[in-house]
Order: sequence, then C-alpha cells, then structure tokens
Amino acid sequence: MKYVLVTGGVVSGLGKGVTASSIGVLLKACGLRVTSIKIDPYLNTDAGTMSPFEHGEVFVLDDGGEVDLDLGNYERFLDIKLTRDNNITTGKIYQHVIAKERKGDYLGKTVQVVPHITDAIQEWIERVAAIPVDGEDGPADVCVIELGGTIGDIESAPFIEALGQFSYRVGQGNFCLVHVSLVPVLNVVGEQKTKPTQHSVRGLRGLGLIPDILACRSTKALEENVKEKLAQFCHVPLENIFTLYDVPNIWHIPRLLKDQKAHLVISKVLNLASIVKEPSLEEWTSRAELCANLHVPVRIAVVGKYTSLSDAYLSVLKALLHAAVACRKKLVVDWVPACDLEKETEKENPNAYKAAWKLLKGVDGVLVPGGFGDRGVEGKILAAKYARESKIPFLGICLGMQVAVIEFARSVLCLHDANSTEFKPETKHPCIVFMPEGSRTHMGGTMRLGSRKSIFSVKDSKSAKLYGNKTFVDERHRHRYEVNPDMVERLEKAGLSFAAKDETGKRMEIVELPSHPFFIGAQFHPEYKSRPGKASPLFLGLIAASCGELDSVMNPSSAHQHLISNCPKNVFVNGNSKKASNGLADVRHNNGYCNGLYTR
Ligand code: GLN
Repeated sequence: MKYVLVTGGVVSGLGKGVTASSIGVLLKACGLRVTSIKIDPYLNTDAGTMSPFEHGEVFVLDDGGEVDLDLGNYERFLDIKLTRDNNITTGKIYQHVIAKERKGDYLGKTVQVVPHITDAIQEWIERVAAIPVDGEDGPADVCVIELGGTIGDIESAPFIEALGQFSYRVGQGNFCLVHVSLVPVLNVVGEQKTKPTQHSVRGLRGLGLIPDILACRSTKALEENVKEKLAQFCHVPLENIFTLYDVPNIWHIPRLLKDQKAHLVISKVLNLASIVKEPSLEEWTSRAELCANLHVPVRIAVVGKYTSLSDAYLSVLKALLHAAVACRKKLVVDWVPACDLEKETEKENPNAYKAAWKLLKGVDGVLVPGGFGDRGVEGKILAAKYARESKIPFLGICLGMQVAVIEFARSVLCLHDANSTEFKPETKHPCIVFMPEGSRTHMGGTMRLGSRKSIFSVKDSKSAKLYGNKTFVDERHRHRYEVNPDMVERLEKAGLSFAAKDETGKRMEIVELPSHPFFIGAQFHPEYKSRPGKASPLFLGLIAASCGELDSVMNPSSAHQHLISNCPKNVFVNGNSKKASNGLADVRHNNGYCNGLYTR
C-alpha cells in the first residue's frame, strides 16, 4: 500500500478535499486502485451531531456512517463506496483507546498521547486503507489521506505526530506528502506572494513532516520566478510545485494536475513510475468543458432551512448539477428560505416574504430537501402546495417527502391539523409518525441510517421508470419518522400513490402524484449516490421535467437517454434543447461561480 497525505496551510477553505479527490482521480486514471481516508481533528465521534449550518451537510454512507462532507467528494470523484471508518476523528480515536484502557489492554501502563494515541491512529489508517471500496477484491494500491484543518492547529498535533511516525514506518517510496497552500496576490503591487507558503512549510517541517509536493492555490498560474523562489525557500524541487489556479468548475482540477505532470511526480515519489500508464482524463475534461459552456438555464428552487450556506446541502446541489449537465442545461439554483414563505413573515418582514414568493414563482422546478426540527416546516408545506397546485415539478427528499404528504392530507383530505408527530405530537391526524426499527423508548440510536431496499410496488410509476424498471433500489436513509401506515389507504384513495415500499411493505419509500406532471417524494436521500457521469434518477427526473423533457429520460430507448449515460465529447450546445419553461433565454445569475454551480 502506498500513501498520499494531503495537508493544508495558511488558511482553511483552500479546497484541500477537492485537491485530494482530484489526485485520486488522476492516479485512478493511471490504472491504480485508489481509496481514501479523511481525518477530522475534532472531538465529535462523527459528524451526525454537528450542525449543517456550522459544518456543512452530514454525508451518509452505505453502512450508515454519518461523516464529513469531504467523503462525499471522494465517493463522487472516485466512484467508490467508503465506510464509516474511512472518516477518522479525534473522538473516535480517543474512544477506541479509552475503551482499550478500560478493558485493561495496556497492562498497567500509563496511557499517553504518544505512543498510545499515535499508535492507534497509525493502526487505524493501515487497517482502513486495506478495506476494498471500489467493488473489487483486495486492498487498493494507493490510499489518499486528507488531514483536515490547517498546519499549526492544536487539535491536529497528535495526528501530525502519528503521520510523521507513519511516514518512517512505511518507508521512503511508499509515502508522498502534498502540501496545499495559498499564494495570494496583493492588489497594490500585483505580485504573487510566497511568504505565507514559506511559513507554512517551515511549520510543517518543524513538526517533522517533509513535503514532497506543493500544490499552490492562486488566482492565476504561478509565475516561473515565483516557483523558483518557493523551490529554493521550501526545499521542494521545482517540478514538484503545482499551481491550482481558479477554474470555472472543480471538474477541471484533475486535468490541471495532469497538465503539470503531477501523476509523474507522485508516481516517482511512490516508486510506481514503472507501472503507471498515461492517464486518460477525456471524460473529466469534456464534462468540465461542457459544464462551463451550458447556456440554457434550468431554475430550481431549493426550499430549505440553511439557505445561506450552500455547503449545508452540498450533495443535493451536486446531484442537481449532475442531472442538469446530463440534460445539457445550466443549473441555476434559487435559494428560498422556507421561513420566509410563512404567513408570520408576511407580518414581520413583508419584504422578505415577497422576495421569497417571487423567487419561488419564477422557477421551473421545486426541491424540498431533508431536515430536522420544526423551523421552516410550514414554509416547506406551502412550497409543496404551490408546486402541487401549479403543476410545477417537485421533488421532496426525506422531510421534503413528509411535508408533501402532510400538505396533501391537509388540502385534499381536508384534515386541517394533519402533521408529523415530530412537530406536533398531539395532532389528531398524525400522517407522519415515529417508526423506529429498534426500540421505541430510546431516542439514541433510533435513526434509520444507511442503505435500505425500496421495492417498487407500482411498476408503471414515474420513479420505477426513472430507475430503469428495476424491481428494487438501494438508497441511503437518515430519518426517524415515516408515513403513518394506518393512513396510507386513505391517502391512496384520494390520489397519492406509494410507488415503493420497504421489504415489510409497512414503510413508504416513494410517493408520487400520478395526476401531476412530476411530483415525487422519497423517504431516502438519492443525492448521496449521485455521480458526475451517473446522475441520480430522481434528480434527473426533476431536471428533465423542469425543462419539459421528462418523457425522453423515462424512455430508455430514446436518444436522449443515450446522451445522458455517455458523457459527451464535444456537445457544447444542445441544438434541440428547449428554453426553460418559464421562457428565460439567459441567466440572471449575479453571484458568480460557486463550486461549479451558478447560485444566487
Ligand atoms: N426529521 C425527519 C425524520 O427524522 C426527516 C429527516 C430528514 O429529512 N433527513 O424523519
């Protein structure tokens, strides 16, 4: 096993995760099997308890692991399936060591950060790196390890120490350290400044880690003299210094690395030069260019609670993007704060109320993502009502599905106090109820997490067709509440259709409104399994329906489907594409680019 460690210096938010994932893509393109580990030096044992507002979304894995959103990047870029142990946190390591101490495994020794915590970190890395994640047997060839945080943080000290020891343990030729840093340009002089990187490399060396490669983030490519200066002061060979300058979207980065021969440098450091082949990144390059050249917009409202931080819905955004690119449309996301749609806001802040409704009424499709807690729920219900009544394509995910059912019960069944017992335990018409798989009395560990089967019960439903007429699908879950099985019959009689259920038939997994052009809710989170070249079927349905092309994606024999499954080589303009249904010919985006997405 070979290891590539990616560290970050100067400031956070440099795109270390994307850099590490792109290195993985490049190595994979060289014919190597790649896995990855993300180290988060915080004390939480996992990301499950962390607020998306502070930390971005919680990513969910097949095994139910609630992990850092960077693992989502790895899964999407490398098309792999990671396990909860691929995310190491300080909390997990300490819990592991303390549990061993309680068992008496340390034989009377004083248990210390060095060597016990540092040994545990190294053992964890070696054990997890060997887990196959790409569907093939046996361990991968290379494990990319990303160390969260910035060099010099107090929290990461035990990890730095452990990784320093680890590099000696695995030996030269098996370990490559890539340090991601920042080269700012000062406006006054317009000069690329190397000092922050010099300092950060000095810090790294002081901690016992020697960088093999510098990946420098900057607005433009590094000038040759700047590289020379860095090489001289940081003691890194000139050809091992790469620039990651700003690009229109993150899919360009593997190619950017390849063009600077990063694969040759890494394979030389890792003693793999004799076995790697010339990487082909055609698919990535064409997708990146295609994405940058899409002009016909599709406007989607994301009606959520954390709309001021797009990372809170990162996988949803990526899944929308994958689907929009598959349909050759430029994704324009309108963030609609759910609270602002509520009557209360009309009184308290009429301008916000008006603005939110104006946004919602200008879109081609509506997405209500998952969520916890009652803030904004009434607004989400109103968004579902608007989409249902105005026949605007709608996709509800988890809580989004639940609000769609509540809204239907209220408006169509006239059960005006219909609600989820999560928000109103005493409701007379509980159409969403707590249905733990295990204990009813213990809240802890009652979340239904990870991959579960959804079996299609309505074969000619839109969702079954979008999923290619499969009998069942495995998607990832993260919820406690579900549609009340006692109300299913009534809801169905009134026109709702439960297109997929779990293996017991008691848990509703997909709901549809057959009389609507596209109105689907899923109890699971399809966004977690969406990939750049393989858009998630329900997202594809939403986007296609939003631009009036649903039939072509539901009919597998159509040319369009072919187009979707094969990433194009040079299709920059979709001659056949219609304008978005609201008639917008060009985009009104004004907040610029954000991770490959146009957002407002
Ligand atoms: N709060 C809801 C539940 O627990 C929905 C969860 C979600 O959207 N992920 O069932």
